[in-house]
Amino acid sequence: MIKLSVTSKLDGIRSWSLQAIDTCPGSIAAPGVLVDACKGCYATTGNYRFKNVKAPRLHNQTDWQRIEWVDDMVQALNSDRYFRWFDSGDVYTLALAEKMLEVMVRTPWVQHWLPTRMHKFPKFRQVFTAMQALKNVALRFSSDSVIGEYTKGLHGSVIVPTPQDATKAMKLCEAYSNNGKCNGCRACYDKTVDLIAYPAHGVSMHKVIRIIKQGVTA
Ligand code: SF4
Repeated sequence: MIKLSVTSKLDGIRSWSLQAIDTCPGSIAAPGVLVDACKGCYATTGNYRFKNVKAPRLHNQTDWQRIEWVDDMVQALNSDRYFRWFDSGDVYTLALAEKMLEVMVRTPWVQHWLPTRMHKFPKFRQVFTAMQALKNVALRFSSDSVIGEYTKGLHGSVIVPTPQDATKAMKLCEAYSNNGKCNGCRACYDKTVDLIAYPAHGVSMHKVIRIIKQGVTA
């Protein structure tokens, strides 16, 4: 059975998600060490620790392996106009990525937003290139930085310490000024928007930034 989730930020737009970190090979900088952007991961704290939030994510981890999963996802997205893959988790295997591509191809009425760190693994190149070629898919490779560093032409999203740190090359996410809601903005789903800057939020993320900045100035 397909289990989709709705996060309060996204104006009711639905997501398909997995358990954070367990399904995020791209979040590992070195054995036992997360990349900076994942050190303050919102999906490992707050509501995400509750059983009822974890349950669908664990379910999805085996559910996608069913033969009928693609057909069922296409059916489930029948009335959606926008869709976000992974409000937590990532495309942790190539077989899942290939199935997601099929869902994207078969739902041209849906504008898909897929943020990922799996571009670090060369074996995903072909499937990501196929996704990028689709008009209805905004594939965003996430930078690991929390201080606004990114590679032009590669990354499609990055965390900045404050809204004032966003540069002209970035589209600033303004959810912070709308009570944490998208409020009609659909920039993340728009493939003509090259780079989104998300201001850091949460105590742990600001702690990570403080430590990095201390390291830079030391
Ligand atoms: S950039 Fe727009 S669509 Fe993306 S998260 Fe922020 S408010 Fe929502």
